[in-house]
Amino acid sequence: MKEKISLPGDLIIRQETWSDSPCSRCSGSPCCSNLPLAPLRLSSRKDFVDLLLLSTYGDIFPGLKPSGEWTVYLKRACGFLQSDEGKCAIHGGQDQSMICKSYDSHNCWYIDAFNPHRYTTMIPFSTSMLIQLEKDYQLIKHRFDREPDWDELCRDAFEYRRHTIELPSEPFSPLAESRLPFKKSRGDEYLFFQPYEKPSDIKHFELMSFRLGFPGVYLAVSDTSWAYLVKAKQNTAYLNLVRDEYFPGLAHKDSSFSFDSYRETYTPHSGIGDQWVILRKKDLPLLKSLTEFGPSGQLRRLPAVSALVKALETGRPDRAA
Ligand code: SF4
Ligand code: SF4
Repeated sequence: MKEKISLPGDLIIRQETWSDSPCSRCSGSPCCSNLPLAPLRLSSRKDFVDLLLLSTYGDIFPGLKPSGEWTVYLKRACGFLQSDEGKCAIHGGQDQSMICKSYDSHNCWYIDAFNPHRYTTMIPFSTSMLIQLEKDYQLIKHRFDREPDWDELCRDAFEYRRHTIELPSEPFSPLAESRLPFKKSRGDEYLFFQPYEKPSDIKHFELMSFRLGFPGVYLAVSDTSWAYLVKAKQNTAYLNLVRDEYFPGLAHKDSSFSFDSYRETYTPHSGIGDQWVILRKKDLPLLKSLTEFGPSGQLRRLPAVSALVKALETGRPDRAA
């Protein structure tokens, strides 16, 4: 076991050499194949319809925990996962985020949560399972204050999935541009996830580094707003299922879960016009070098988007001003 290294905050390196770690004997590496994107709690019909709409996107699924909290996951393997051995190609290297390095694989939550033989600590839901859940427990009618028995829910959900053939995900095409007009981001291939606020601590850079390792996940930045952007294809068959069952709930939007749902609260503004700047994992060192941090890792000043664009174009932080 390596010596524990304290970093600002509570992120501590807990890694062993690959062959000594439980990960070398893990089947499928679920931690590297399921990216948690956002926590959610349901308290209204609109929340439920939003969750349904999210579930219609390929590779996106909501998972329910016994606490009643939902988490939206991206079912897509990290770009550094070597599919043959299930080994991380950057294990222990400087490109691997502290989120991965600090994870305690001896007390791994993912093993039970993604057990293919039974559900115990997390239930992964598909669109049709969500509809079934709502019908069985009349969640909307009871304003989401009903708590189904967890063991029963696990059993029913597992049986339901066992007898259901899921539609395959449609492949997405990666984003080629480095800028994305706000208006275009309303298209049905772009999902925006909080934190919508700017990072405030050096630990947030580790989270960015972890998330941006997954294909189709980017950081969308403007002068006023930051968000994780996920490129995914909406599955029309699932969307039609939602339309058929919950059409009145869809009247408030254009059937897509996109930037629109945040528009009432946030109005992005960018110093380079009506556009998001798109950052990838490879851009993070440059972003970090242009950011001012305090002595304990708190963030003092982020670069203006126009300076960031200039630095990205030249690849030279010193030319950013
Ligand atoms: S952290 Fe857990 S899920 Fe991930 S590879 Fe290691 S044992 Fe498997
Ligand atoms: S970088 Fe992290 S998430 Fe990606 S393969 Fe390595 S350990 Fe897994």
